[in-house]
Amino acid sequence: MNVQLRRIEADAVIAIGSNLGDRAATFSAALRALAEADGIEVTAISSPIETVAVRPDGEDPDAPAYLNAVVLVRTTLAPRALLSLLNDIEREHGRVRGERWGDRTLDLDIIDYAGLQSSSADLTLPHPRAHERTFVLRPWAEVAPEAVLPGHGRIADLLATLEGR
Ligand code: AMP
Repeated sequence: MNVQLRRIEADAVIAIGSNLGDRAATFSAALRALAEADGIEVTAISSPIETVAVRPDGEDPDAPAYLNAVVLVRTTLAPRALLSLLNDIEREHGRVRGERWGDRTLDLDIIDYAGLQSSSADLTLPHPRAHERTFVLRPWAEVAPEAVLPGHGRIADLLATLEGR
């Protein structure tokens, strides 16, 4: 019998953000690192958009503006392995951790992983704030207009509600 081992592939949605330093250069470096990582195939990259920084108490126009984009990938990495890869890329590109909502050179989040809904201490899927973030939903809708955020519905509808359309 000819048994072929095949690793299971999953579609995942990654959000990328930066509001410090040379944001465009950081984006390019992070995207290159993602594309070159084992077990990842980048299938789409949205246009970058510039957005006002969000703090716990709302938008902060005095903080440096963010550059945000969404990347679609196909991956053989399990969710936690993907998160660990994203954390490594954040570290390589100079992210200083500390203040939870603080400015950052690079922020990488898993927005969706194969429609999974799960929560643990270090990983919540889908990302718990994605449904209220236009800076995630708008670039995501550009590359996947029919996408659904598990537990929340079509992203086009979420976006229309948030943008008051
Ligand atoms: P933040 O600094 O706000 O980006 O939070 C990063 C931390 O959130 C990481 O250390 C993760 O363990 C945790 N986390 C929980 N769910 C997610 C997710 N879906 N994507 C990325 N980080 C997550």
